[in-house]
Amino acid sequence: MSFSVHHYALELDYKPHSGRLSGRAVLQASCTALSSFSLSFGSLRVSKVLVNGKPARYAHAGGVLNVRAAVRGSFSVEVRYSGTPVPISTPEWGDLGWDELTDGSIVASQPIGAPSWFPCLDDPSSKASYLIDVTAPSSYTVVCNGVLVDGKVSGSTTRWTYSMAAPMATYLSTVQIGQYVEALPGVWAPSRLRRPVAHDFGRQSEMVELFSSLFGPYPFAGYAVVVTDDALDVPVEAQGLSTFGSNHVDGRRGSERLVAHELAHQWFGNSVGIAAWEHIWLNEGFACYSEWLWSEASGGRSADVCAAAARDLLQRLPQDVVIGAPDRAHWFDDRVYQRGALTLHTLRREMGDDSFFALLREWCARHRHGVVTTDDFLNLAGHQDLLTHWLFEPDLPL
Ligand SMILES: [Zn+2]
Repeated sequence: MSFSVHHYALELDYKPHSGRLSGRAVLQASCTALSSFSLSFGSLRVSKVLVNGKPARYAHAGGVLNVRAAVRGSFSVEVRYSGTPVPISTPEWGDLGWDELTDGSIVASQPIGAPSWFPCLDDPSSKASYLIDVTAPSSYTVVCNGVLVDGKVSGSTTRWTYSMAAPMATYLSTVQIGQYVEALPGVWAPSRLRRPVAHDFGRQSEMVELFSSLFGPYPFAGYAVVVTDDALDVPVEAQGLSTFGSNHVDGRRGSERLVAHELAHQWFGNSVGIAAWEHIWLNEGFACYSEWLWSEASGGRSADVCAAAARDLLQRLPQDVVIGAPDRAHWFDDRVYQRGALTLHTLRREMGDDSFFALLREWCARHRHGVVTTDDFLNLAGHQDLLTHWLFEPDLPL
């Protein structure tokens, strides 16, 4: 594509009681010569578009903001907008993007929800740095991607400024707003859940140690967790941050495998991103396998036992998904997760632990903050016959 965005500066003002959001997005972009360009943007109302500081003509309909301005080389686009954000409804994945909680809001965009709250080039292969600045009533805590660089109280509101310097895909950008307290350093939760959250997330730093030794250094400046007061269907990964629902907390580490899964996405999915959604097993297969690695290392079931259970499950399900290139309807199919993990376990048994984990470290180092395809993995890993069968033929190998 001839058009790319390198940096998003998002300045938002949010009123939790009315659900009203007003925003100013400044994108630093570059392109070959164009007479117009388009960004994805949902249903918030655009009041002004400026290109290089000058008002530009635009049309906004059907989730597309088309800006009519002659641009070439580096340029900036500023979009001012407001309204009540609503998630983007999809038949496959339900509601995505900015959504209201009982008290506050959440952003869970994977895969196509980011345009619900800011205009963007919404493609997993397009990564940019971010500055996210949110003003909300002072009784609320705002958690976004990256490092909190400023927090200014003025009157009854607080302005929170977060910087994500590492390149980030749009679907991994997030804003979490709620009445949260810090249950552990970097772990935010409603005060009623403080104790069970502190217990359930208590081994997260051990997980970071394990994964750093197996995959290479943790790829971002920090890691935060938000536990919402509402229940969520599934936890959600964002860059440098994961969000869990109150239903994922029981005070007995009943969902600890998910804590490991979301953390592992910081290496697989967030730092090493995918060039297109069809390569999703590189995120989910690896994150699922990380659950087994944590289980094995922490005295739970061994990876062999987890693998046998996954094989049992996969044998009972239809073998009609090609996990190396699933169609849109199957991107987040459980078989992509389980068979992806089983593929990695089979490769580990074939290569031996030393070579296998050296491969994972090389994968994470070589593609740190970049994007990859399944072919990239095949080329690095070798064992083409084994991997081709596991990834590109629907029947389960013996
Ligand atoms: Zn996942």
